[in-house]
Amino acid sequence: KKRGEIMKVTMITGDGIGKEISQSVMDIIDASGANLTWDIVHAGEAVYEETGSLIPDKVFTSLEQNKVALKAPMTTPIGKGFHSVNVALRKKYDLYANIRPIQSIGTMETLFKQLDLVLFRENTEDLYAGMEEKVTDDEMRSIKIITRDASERIIRRAFEYAQENHRSSVTVVTKANIMKLSDGLFLDIAREIANEFPTIEFKEILVDNMAMQLVIDPYQFDVVVTENLYGDILSDEMAGLIGGLGLVPGANVGDDMAIFEAVHGSAPDIAGKNLANPTAIILGGCMMLDYLGKTKESHNIRYALDIVLSQPENFTHDLKGTASTSQFTQAVIKQVQQLN
Ligand code: NAD
Repeated sequence: KKRGEIMKVTMITGDGIGKEISQSVMDIIDASGANLTWDIVHAGEAVYEETGSLIPDKVFTSLEQNKVALKAPMTTPIGKGFHSVNVALRKKYDLYANIRPIQSIGTMETLFKQLDLVLFRENTEDLYAGMEEKVTDDEMRSIKIITRDASERIIRRAFEYAQENHRSSVTVVTKANIMKLSDGLFLDIAREIANEFPTIEFKEILVDNMAMQLVIDPYQFDVVVTENLYGDILSDEMAGLIGGLGLVPGANVGDDMAIFEAVHGSAPDIAGKNLANPTAIILGGCMMLDYLGKTKESHNIRYALDIVLSQPENFTHDLKGTASTSQFTQAVIKQVQQLN
C-alpha cells in the first residue's frame, strides 16, 4: 500500500469518553492529509442497551472488509453481564499481540523523563481465556491457560521487534517460581527463542520484582514480553511512569488484522465533560498510520503532539491543566497544518 493512497479504515466509537476522543483523533488524522475514509461503527454498553447486541454485525462486517481499525474504549461492567468487547474481538480475530509503547512525550511533570519502553502482552489466553466455573456458592475457579503456540508467537514477535528496531534487550516477566508449569512453560520458551537472537540481551525477572524495579529504575528495561494478566497490570504501571493512562496507545495485531486503541478505559467519571485527554488514542492513530505505511503523517502528528504537550496551556486535567478536549484537539490540528 502506498502513502498518498485513499484507505478505508473502521472506527469503533465506544462508550464514555470514547465519543469525544474518537472525534478528536479523526479530525487530527484528517488534518494531517493522510487520506483515510472512516467507516464509523458503534459497539459497547450504550449499543447493548439500545439494541441488545454488544457488537452489532455491522462492526464485524466492517472489520472483515477493512482489516484495520481504530477503537475507542468501551465500558465492561464488573462481575455480571456481558464479557468485554475487547476480549471478544481479540479472540475472534486472533489478535494475539498486544503492543504498548510507553514513550515520554511533552514537558509535563512526570515521574521519569525520556523513557522508551515497549511492552508485548500475550492477548489470547492466560486467565483471560474466560474459563471460570462456580464449584459451590462459596467457591469459584478461574483457569489459567498457557500454551506453547500462543507463547511462542508473542515472544518471537517481541524479539523480532527488538532486532528490527535495534533495541538492546528483551525482558521476560513471569511468576515461574510459583506457577512452575504454566509460567514455567512461558519462561522455557522465552529461553529457547532468546538463543535464536544472540545479539539481543535476554533478561528474566519475576513479576513482583518487576513491579518494584519499574518504579525505582525503569531505564534498565527496553522491550518487555509477558503473559496477558501481568501485561495488563504492568502496562498501566508503566503508563504512570510517564504521566498516566491518557498518554499510552496500544495495538492488537494478528496475522491479517490490526486494531489500534488507547490503553485506558471509558473513564465514566469524566465522560461527556470535554475533559478527556485524547493523546492516547491519537498515538494509537499514529501506530495505525505507520501500519498503513503513512509514516510521514504519523511523524507529523507525533511531532505536533510533542509541541502541544510542551505548552502548559494545552494540558488537560489529568496533566494538572485546564485545557478541554476540544481546545487540545484544535491546538494539535494547528500544529499539524503548519507541518503539512
Ligand atoms: P479508566 O482507564 O477508564 O479510568 C481510570 C482513571 O483514569 C479515571 O480516573 C479516568 O478519568 C482517568 N482517565 C482514563 N483515561 C483518561 C483520559 N484519556 N484522559 C483523562 N483521564 C483519563 O479505567 P476504569 O475506570 O478502571 O474503567 C472504566 C471502564 O472502562 C470499565 O468499564 C472498564 O472495563 C473499561 N475499560 C475498557 C478498556 C478498553 O475498552 N480498551 C480498557 C480498560 C478499561
